[in-house]
Amino acid sequence: MNSLTIALFLVVGVSIGLQPSDAVGYTNSCSCGHSYDGNNCAHYLTNWMIKNGWLSTSPGKSTANCRTGRPIRAKDVRKIFRDKYGAPTRYEPAGNSFIYVERKRDGKGHVYYGTKRTCVAGTGNGAFAGRDAVWEFYQ
Ligand SMILES: [Zn+2]
Repeated sequence: MNSLTIALFLVVGVSIGLQPSDAVGYTNSCSCGHSYDGNNCAHYLTNWMIKNGWLSTSPGKSTANCRTGRPIRAKDVRKIFRDKYGAPTRYEPAGNSFIYVERKRDGKGHVYYGTKRTCVAGTGNGAFAGRDAVWEFYQ
């Protein structure tokens, strides 16, 4: 990695994680116009990320995308978070972060942006997972 690449990474990385208030607003929708029967957490979150230029369409870590290239699986978005931000923290950081939460009893995953209690961008917080859940925070 040369110094220009590092400088670009720092500029883009900081703008991704720390300044979402300056971003294109989140909507419960995707440019493709399709809804996956209520399972749109990854779909609508990645639509928001792509519209803001924080993620490319049909990113390499995703195994399933909608017709406009938005990843539709939470577990794939978890891989994207790891790729962009490195290892997650298990303890909630100060401020907002990208969150992957998994319900232990059936392994159902969910992604959004915000805090444990508050969904700032996404289809809802992680309350569905109950007390015995796996939480990962990326920032
Ligand atoms: Zn879509």
